[in-house]
Amino acid sequence: MKINITSKPSSTTINKTGGWRTYRPKTDLDKCIGCGACAAVCPENAVVMKEINGKQKPFTDFNFCKGCGVCAEECPVKAITMELEKK
Ligand code: SF4
Ligand code: SF4
Repeated sequence: MKINITSKPSSTTINKTGGWRTYRPKTDLDKCIGCGACAAVCPENAVVMKEINGKQKPFTDFNFCKGCGVCAEECPVKAITMELEKK
């Protein structure tokens, strides 16, 4: 049986925590101002900023996003909403 736990520093990059999710963040990229706060606070480092048409935008790796909602809480323009995960 495979158990996903954080057993040592940085092991969350090995253990895919996406299966823990009940809610998933949905980002409105039009509303996003590209501040990078969501990427900075994500405890799983699941958010990376990429340049799109000269502007920084966040992209979420759902293999690692555990749906904690910290990004949505910290977004200064409320561009992220948490939606119930469809299983
Ligand atoms: S919901 Fe949590 S784990 Fe997922 S991207 Fe936001 S801060 Fe990261
Ligand atoms: S915190 Fe909000 S405004 Fe800032 S990059 Fe993330 S989604 Fe965009």
